[in-house]
Amino acid sequence: PVLRVAILGLGSYGERVAEAMKDCQRAKLVGLVSGTPAKLKTWQAKYGIAEKNCYNYETLDQIKNNPDIDAVYVITPNGLHKDFSVRVAKAGKHVICEKPMANDAKEAQQMVDACKAAKVKLLIGYRMHFEPITLDIVHKRKAGDFGKVLFFQGLSGFIIGDPTQWRLNKKLAGGGAMMDIGIYSINGSRYMIGEDPIWVTAQEVKTNPEKFKEGVDETITFQLGFPGGAVASCLSTYSLNNLDRFFLDGDKGYAEMGPSTGYGPIKGRTNKGEVTYPHVTHQTVQMDEMSDIILKGKQPEIPVDGEEGLKDMKIVDAIFQAVKTGGKVAIKY
Ligand code: NAD
Repeated sequence: PVLRVAILGLGSYGERVAEAMKDCQRAKLVGLVSGTPAKLKTWQAKYGIAEKNCYNYETLDQIKNNPDIDAVYVITPNGLHKDFSVRVAKAGKHVICEKPMANDAKEAQQMVDACKAAKVKLLIGYRMHFEPITLDIVHKRKAGDFGKVLFFQGLSGFIIGDPTQWRLNKKLAGGGAMMDIGIYSINGSRYMIGEDPIWVTAQEVKTNPEKFKEGVDETITFQLGFPGGAVASCLSTYSLNNLDRFFLDGDKGYAEMGPSTGYGPIKGRTNKGEVTYPHVTHQTVQMDEMSDIILKGKQPEIPVDGEEGLKDMKIVDAIFQAVKTGGKVAIKY
């Protein structure tokens, strides 16, 4: 079976997904939702999309009556994820939503609840959860190759350009670097260690308050504590490049990745040597796997459902709270 997908939000990442889906075996781009009529026209021609499968933000709810679309992939600015996802769920379509799932855990919870009530699936665009080198290292950790894992380091950052973009707007982005790139270290710490953190401490540094306004974080260092005794030490920033690294250490061995979450090729290595797999386009594999999750009920090795996204949002909320209070914040799921 083929998952028939409409993309909502025809921006730069939407285009990357659309291009990657050309190579999918079990998913197909069949519909478009956009607020910009001109973009609908160009995309329609470029990807051969039927007129009856094109919607704008006013007509979106009518997608309910379209039997030729199974799922809608929400790829808008973060602050719009919740409202669009809830509308899609109410229209009876499965929801795929980009990371970060929402602006905060409260919104994320509303999305989980709406999808549950509508009996549709909710999946978050965690493309690394399907990446072969990542999965191999997770298998090795599960098999005990690294012994008892006690430390993870995650470094996530890039220098952000245009100060007027939505990523630097609190309402549309929910925050700054943490929402966009820091979340890779949060999420990565969880799948690399294999547990969910129970406390967090965090410190913020702001060198440019003009560019990074109130509520928009530039640089945050944070520490996470895990139930089994492991700790994670992470950096999230919009002011440095070359920060895309994971390091996992146990009492018998280690794994390191760098680049660890970019579009690839990903590079991985353990104390026993390189971990090599042919490069795959992450979004192609992700959409084929999501097709199996939605249409065949397949359980992915590292979950990508709404509850998984909600956990990351609870951790983000706790990090922002820890920055404010300067103290240790407990995380409850
Ligand atoms: P973008 O700015 O290139 O595209 C955003 C799209 O949303 C545009 O087409 C824009 O027209 C549309 N939009 C609708 N309402 C809008 C509004 N009120 N204000 C601004 N734009 C509006 O951004 P992007 O890079 O495509 O990011 C979109 C989402 O995808 C974000 O949630 C981002 O975090 C996520 N993303 C994920 C990855 C990944 O690797 N998984 C990579 C990049 C982006």
